[in-house]
Amino acid sequence: MMEAIRDQYGRTFRTLRVSLLSHCNLGCVYCVAGEEELRGWNESPEKGLEAPELLEVIQRLHDRLGLETVRLTGGEPLLYPGLTCVVEGLRSMGIPRISLTTNGSLLDRKAAVLKQAGLQSINVSLDAVDEAIFERMSRRNSVARVIRGIDAALDAGLTVKLNAVIMKGMNAGQVLPLLEFAFTRGITIRFLEVMAMGHMYHNSAQYLLSRQEVLQLIGEQYALTPLEREPSATAQYWVTNRGQRVGIIANESEPFCRDCDRLRLDSSGRIYGCLSSNHPIALGIGESAAGLDGKLRAALAQKQAVRFTGSELSMLQIGG
Ligand code: SAM
Repeated sequence: MMEAIRDQYGRTFRTLRVSLLSHCNLGCVYCVAGEEELRGWNESPEKGLEAPELLEVIQRLHDRLGLETVRLTGGEPLLYPGLTCVVEGLRSMGIPRISLTTNGSLLDRKAAVLKQAGLQSINVSLDAVDEAIFERMSRRNSVARVIRGIDAALDAGLTVKLNAVIMKGMNAGQVLPLLEFAFTRGITIRFLEVMAMGHMYHNSAQYLLSRQEVLQLIGEQYALTPLEREPSATAQYWVTNRGQRVGIIANESEPFCRDCDRLRLDSSGRIYGCLSSNHPIALGIGESAAGLDGKLRAALAQKQAVRFTGSELSMLQIGG
């Protein structure tokens, strides 16, 4: 067994987030500034890796790092033509946990096939259950379709979690309705603080609804008991007086850099050690083992010691 690549804080890479493509069928307000930016991404997407090349890169990373989790994301991963093939490939590599983050709008058609291919769990981004507010957040309708996708994923036997980015003046009134929606289906929901990325790099603060403020909103209806944070987790969880789990991903109020184990691979096969980094590291085909180690060390050195410092790149580019 090769020696693990570690930094001075003992951090290493165990989780790989793979951005399959950099375009999307929604235009969420925290991700893109408007239709023009979205069109830019969708009409001239970067020529991404096709499934066989992508699997080759992941296999190399897995051989070196012993990955425990691979999460497929994007852009919108359900738009990637070779998605089922990628999931099957990950399963045959023996990756212990295979999951995917999606906006859910195409999930009703694909959940069963993905489960069969080896996908185990799915995070669905859902920022509102009210149609008008959903449309304000995503610049698209319809929430009903996403809900059909969530139900199809549950029917297929996938483990489902919900992610909701909560923004002041936009969808803060949806915290309790989203909680009710999740609880009636027995799903765990996580509320995300908005992050200073892409077009929000300089102005996310005005939209930030902090962890404390989200807890106050939930506290109007439920008593909450905190649970112990799991190592490397992005979310901290609470259990309500009715026994349901709710999480908050508080990138600003409670940064989780200190034991972050995530490595990111973008759709062109470049790695990043941190969402704060604007410096992709290209992996060479046929690169030596020493060359790969050097690049993984450089990616690890991109990690922040304490807190996320923001990035001009949108999650569409780097993968959420
Ligand atoms: N299209 C898929 C989806 O909607 O889940 C996957 C990609 S999306 C970029 C992944 C996650 O990033 C979503 O949960 C989204 O809410 C989150 N995200 C994107 N930009 C964000 C920002 N500025 N602050 C917080 N979360 C953000």
